[in-house]
Amino acid sequence: MNMNHPEKIEKLLNGTDGALITSPHNLRYFSGFAGGEGIALIGSDFRYLFVDSRYTEEARSEAPNFEVIEFKAGGLCAEINNRLKSCGALRLCFEDNEMTVSEYQRYSEKLTVSELCPIGDRADKVRMVKTDEEIERMRRAEKIGDIALGKTLPMLSAGIRECDIAAELEYRMRRLGAEGTSFDTIVVSGAKSAMPHGRPDEKMLEHGDLVTIDFGCVYKGYCSDMTRTFAIGDISDEKKKIYDTVLSAQLTGLSAIRAGEKASDCDRAAREVIESADFGKYFGHSLGHGVGLKIHELPNLSPRSEVILEENMIVTCEPGIYIGGLGGVRIEDMVAVKENGCDILSSFTKELIICR
Ligand code: ZN
Ligand code: ZN
Repeated sequence: MNMNHPEKIEKLLNGTDGALITSPHNLRYFSGFAGGEGIALIGSDFRYLFVDSRYTEEARSEAPNFEVIEFKAGGLCAEINNRLKSCGALRLCFEDNEMTVSEYQRYSEKLTVSELCPIGDRADKVRMVKTDEEIERMRRAEKIGDIALGKTLPMLSAGIRECDIAAELEYRMRRLGAEGTSFDTIVVSGAKSAMPHGRPDEKMLEHGDLVTIDFGCVYKGYCSDMTRTFAIGDISDEKKKIYDTVLSAQLTGLSAIRAGEKASDCDRAAREVIESADFGKYFGHSLGHGVGLKIHELPNLSPRSEVILEENMIVTCEPGIYIGGLGGVRIEDMVAVKENGCDILSSFTKELIICR
């Protein structure tokens, strides 16, 4: 993202003289540089990007609004200090959630600043509302997921291993132009499907299993995230009831998502559907989360969130029911918040598919 919105920079600075940006996602967001390794120094009227020689070319082409400075091993802080001096910046904010203690110690010893102030979640809040270009990248990422899942679906049958399904899905997404996965692909079947974030292994799918696939890819830096649950052959009435309840909760959650709505009320709307079917204690996580350059961003659609949804935030809606020993169901879409509702970025069916 070739980001140059002065109001976003002011929100980031929040009265400090400059921001020291060190995380890959914020480097990419605020400078455009996608190489991951580098340090940006951003103020109201200065933009510097410090990289080592491996990234100089890339930084110059991706961050045209920044002065790119190549530093030698051990020379970073001296280069930063030179620029701090020339622009008179004394109070810097830094990404306290992204820095190791030793990095922080090094910067606080070597930088000639009067104060290093923690940035808290300000950068995350700046990234919360997406531009049209960001939304289009995420729409493409979600589309890649839709197509890849469709091509993987014929594999789902008793006797196939979870790890084979995960591998196929990831391969398909790469072939469709994805840069990688947005997180480790989840394929969990049978009793394992009761683990919301279980890992695929050599377990074979069995007749009567529920199989939950939660996955996403990265397209031009932006993540996708979706979940579907499938049945392998005929499933018990109880599993069917769990599926129908989660689907109904998911649709209720989607219909609650709109600009001006409290994030916590969206969670409540979906949760009530699950509670009224007496599965309340089996839905332990929150309804959803923001997505962007990172797979988990603000806002959270949780009972404790104080966020009011705004147009062009991207959030997931992913209720689930997980019953130990029996299995679980989760259904997840990623949506763009709109004035009168939401724009669902995935189009893969949510009707229960019974794989034979
Ligand atoms: Zn997910
Ligand atoms: Zn998610």
